[in-house]
Amino acid sequence: MKGMKEMDLASIIRNIPDFPKAGIQFKDITTLLKNHDAFRQAVDSLYHLFKDQEVDIVVGIEARGFILGSVVAYLLDAGFVPVRKKGKLPAAVRSKTYDLEYGSATLEMHLDAIEKNQKVVIIDDLLATGGTVRAVCEMIEEAGGEIAGIAFLIELESLQGRKAIDKYQVYSLIKLD
Ligand code: AMP
Repeated sequence: MKGMKEMDLASIIRNIPDFPKAGIQFKDITTLLKNHDAFRQAVDSLYHLFKDQEVDIVVGIEARGFILGSVVAYLLDAGFVPVRKKGKLPAAVRSKTYDLEYGSATLEMHLDAIEKNQKVVIIDDLLATGGTVRAVCEMIEEAGGEIAGIAFLIELESLQGRKAIDKYQVYSLIKLD
C-alpha cells in the first residue's frame, strides 16, 4: 500500500435493482473483487481491525463471507470456519433457523469447528437486517467461542442491523443507505 492512494470503495460496488426479487437493491461486490487494488485495500482494512487481537478463528458466512474471511484468516494467522446453508456441510453440525422478510433460513456450522474459549471474528460482505449474523453469533457462543468482533465490507445503515448485534464490536468499511 506504500505510496498508494486510498480508493473510494463505495464507488466500486455495483447496485443491481430488483435482484434477486423486486424491491431489493442488490450490492454486487464482484466489481470490487476483480479490481486488485480495491480487493487488497478492503482485505488490508479488515485485517487491520483485528491484527493486534490474537484471533484464533475467522468465521465466514456463505458465500461472499468465504472470499473475504479466508484471506483475512490467512493474514491474521488464524484458522477459517465456514458457516453454510443447510445441508452443505458433511460432518455433524449445529444449526440455527432464523426469520427472513418472507419465510426463514437455516445456517449450519460443524459441531467441532470452534473450541471453548477460542477467540473468534466474524466476516461477511454485507449487514442488512442483522438476522443472519445474529444466528451465527448464537452458534459460536453455543460452541463456547468468544466473539472478539464482527466486520462487514458494507453496512446498509437504514436497516439498522447493528441493533441485532449491539453487544459486540461491529465494524463496516462502507456505509450505504
Ligand atoms: P441480513 O440477515 O438481513 O443482515 O442479510 C445479510 C445477508 O444477506 C448477507 O450474507 C448478505 O450477503 C445478504 N444480503 C442482504 N441484503 C443484501 C443486499 N441488498 N445486497 C447484497 N447482499 C445482501
